[in-house]
Amino acid sequence: MNFLHRQTWPRLHDEGHEVACRFCDSLHEVELIEEGQSASCNTCGALLYRNRPQSLERAIAFGLSGTLFLIGMLALPFITLDVQGSATTVSMVETAVRLWLQGGHTIAITVLVSLFVLPLTILFSLLYICIPLSRGKTLPGVQLVGYLFQVIQPWIMVEVFFLGTMVSLLKLMKLADVSMGLGFWSMIALMLSLAASVSGIDRIELWDRIEVALAQKNTEGAAVEGGVEC
Ligand SMILES: [Zn+2]
Repeated sequence: MNFLHRQTWPRLHDEGHEVACRFCDSLHEVELIEEGQSASCNTCGALLYRNRPQSLERAIAFGLSGTLFLIGMLALPFITLDVQGSATTVSMVETAVRLWLQGGHTIAITVLVSLFVLPLTILFSLLYICIPLSRGKTLPGVQLVGYLFQVIQPWIMVEVFFLGTMVSLLKLMKLADVSMGLGFWSMIALMLSLAASVSGIDRIELWDRIEVALAQKNTEGAAVEGGVEC
């Protein structure tokens, strides 16, 4: 039994813990499962949750690498266009600035939000929660950041931007010699890192760990207050 406990994530209560299937709305009791296992809906067979091995470490590692690739994507040369011997190299930030200056305000803001604001918010919130949790701690406002992480998750649009970029590049290739810079490859690495970091830890596990860390914090706070009163 102890062995099984070490293979699962910590939680405060074993009862009254339910999860709804996102496809058929069936309610299921959340039971502890061993690392590497997953739980499926009894009605439609859809995946409910899974216990990923070394989930916190995985989320932190991919979150940190995603942050580095995000900086690389913004700062490094993104694309070089060669038209009749005249080459122009632009970075992602330069592209957004040029779009803004040429009157494409909506497109410039869309590029900025989808490629910078949303990925940065996701990566920051994930690291803000997971790094302290790896030591059983929480930082102030962890619940708010957790809700933010959950709300923004479906709005990550780097993949959409990637598809748009590929279509544009195919058209540009007919007009000029196009070569991708390190910024472009950083964008691909960012997409992979974002997907791996977000899926690195299950939502149910994350909230269970937050709940346990908060309860521990409250207990320690109460013990300190009790000690001061004595
Ligand atoms: Zn179902």
